[in-house]
Amino acid sequence: MEEQIKNIQTESISKISQCKDEKELNDLKVKYLGKKGELTSVLRGMGKLSPEERPHIGSLVNQVRDELENLISEKEKEFTRKELEEKLKKENIDVTEPSKKTSLGSLHPITQIINEVEDIFLGMGYKIADGPEVEKAIYNFDKLNTPPDHPARDLQDTFYVTDDIVLRSQTSPVQARVMEEQKPPIKIICPGAVYRSDSIDATHSPVFHQVEGLVVDKNIAMSDLKGTLEMFAKKCLGENTKIRFRPHHFPFTEPSAEADVSCFVCGGKGCKVCKGEGWIELLGCGMVHPKVLQNCGIDPEIYSGFAFGFGVERIAMAKFGIDDMRLLFENDVRFLKQF
Ligand SMILES: [Zn+2]
Repeated sequence: MEEQIKNIQTESISKISQCKDEKELNDLKVKYLGKKGELTSVLRGMGKLSPEERPHIGSLVNQVRDELENLISEKEKEFTRKELEEKLKKENIDVTEPSKKTSLGSLHPITQIINEVEDIFLGMGYKIADGPEVEKAIYNFDKLNTPPDHPARDLQDTFYVTDDIVLRSQTSPVQARVMEEQKPPIKIICPGAVYRSDSIDATHSPVFHQVEGLVVDKNIAMSDLKGTLEMFAKKCLGENTKIRFRPHHFPFTEPSAEADVSCFVCGGKGCKVCKGEGWIELLGCGMVHPKVLQNCGIDPEIYSGFAFGFGVERIAMAKFGIDDMRLLFENDVRFLKQF
């Protein structure tokens, strides 16, 4: 029996050592160590041995089994390693190959202008105020001295969500909300999107952006408004920019004006951007109407204020030389990455 075991040992070691793949190894494992394997059947035959022989043969079988198990596990490891190596070879990564570049975007021209305007006014001590774009009609109109029969409340101009809720048609409701919540002095700008039921063309869009400003304090006069806007125009459009006021009417300011700036392309001589005028219409402004102050809980006998507002698209178009407003909303990257 001892000889039989030695034969199994020699044969199995040689076969396992030479085996080529995992399947063959598995077969050999079954052949020698499995339940019906050669070594197991030797153990089964031990009943025929004398009690003196049993311990010797038993330990010999165990020794051979340990040896084979070790050898098999070594072989398994070898195969796993080989498999991994082959896989790595197949999936070889060429680290010298140029990478796919993710192109970095840039800020939208509208955002650039808003950021720039915010910087200018923050530098003059203003705070930035924010408010809802879906707004109560009372803030969008009533408090701003725009009574129910006013033409601006017409369905043709304003998007109504319900009878008393609208998409804000201006950022002025933010001013009303701030005046209600804070005591003067107030010095804010409110940038944001506004909505009007305009059809889309080169100069109109149902959604556009405004920046409005509001100052309320004691002894605020028209000269403060003029000084502020002149400073803003110079910082935003260039040191040589001049500003002029034309009388106008707005329900929420009295007196009201529209302000033009000298064309920053031709300097006032007349060109394509200013349509030969030398001036570009920039914004609407005026002294806050006493009724508006009153509506928002501020005593017009003690306080006065000025307000102004302008379209961001208009400034972006003039500054970047864009002749069609639709380009600002189409979000074509080829267009946007020029700025
Ligand atoms: Zn010009």
